[in-house]
Amino acid sequence: MSAAPRIDLHTHSTASDGTLGPAELVRAAAESGLDVVAITDHDTTAGWAPALAALPAGLSLVRGAELSCRWYGEEPPVPLHLLAYLFDPDTPDLVAELARVRAAREERGERIVALLRADGIDVSWPEILAGAAGGTVGRPHIAQALIRAGLVTTTTEAFGPDWLGERYRLPKEDIDVFRAVRLVRAAGGVPVFAHPRASRRGRIVPDELIADLAAIGLAGLEADHEDHSPAERAHVRALADELGLLVTGSSDFHGTHKTVRLGAFSTDPEAYERIVAEARGVTEVASG
Ligand code: AMP
Ligand code: FE
Ligand code: FE
Ligand code: ZN
Repeated sequence: MSAAPRIDLHTHSTASDGTLGPAELVRAAAESGLDVVAITDHDTTAGWAPALAALPAGLSLVRGAELSCRWYGEEPPVPLHLLAYLFDPDTPDLVAELARVRAAREERGERIVALLRADGIDVSWPEILAGAAGGTVGRPHIAQALIRAGLVTTTTEAFGPDWLGERYRLPKEDIDVFRAVRLVRAAGGVPVFAHPRASRRGRIVPDELIADLAAIGLAGLEADHEDHSPAERAHVRALADELGLLVTGSSDFHGTHKTVRLGAFSTDPEAYERIVAEARGVTEVASG
């Protein structure tokens, strides 16, 4: 009998804030021994076609995205991430929301740069935008500018409280999380809450919200993620069990913008099969 398949359902390419192009990403996934990889760039499906075109033999590709969402049940509203798998990328409502969020990211990035510049920090918005090379722009791209300017030495440091983590952190106009779950389901996709308990990233949402999302179509929770402590992983598993949600584990690979390796965390085949079975088949898993 062959070994259990290795499944990594959360990775980023240069279509957002990763550092490998989509083609390089799928090649790297195959080289690192994965059987299934999902491409889940922030708020875009731009990496799908190049990843598909470069898909190595033996690797399965799950096309997805990571949607920037917000829960408006608290003041200030809490940002959160929703992974969406195998949805129809041509659904007009969803396409419009993603385009709106990408535009909001640019506007917010420019405002962050203005704040930095007002404090005499020499970073350039056109240069940061060029660094994103047409991909969804995010704070990791601003972090690279801080590194180039010699103000910090690592991305982690750039996300500290003195920089992009707090002092120069601004909110962006995200998608209402209830709307996002409904949009993903309406587009035939499967929504999974990314790193739902990652308190080290900032504020987290109450379990009651997750129960409310489960009631309107949320399919699963990401439990095994580097930003979850062992206690947080256990909590997510217990909650998923209680709510009948599937559980995933993933690397959230970002190339050299993070230290985590492809396949560092993985998803059980049963949970993966459930995602595939729940998808309405507009976007199929592609096999190389
Ligand atoms: P944004 O989407 O612009 O709000 O930026 C958030 C992104 O920054 C996340 O998707 C991660 O890729 C990255 N990020 C967040 N926190 C950190 C951190 N502490 N170290 C490195 N990258 C981070
Ligand atoms: Fe990211
Ligand atoms: Fe995320
Ligand atoms: Zn991610």
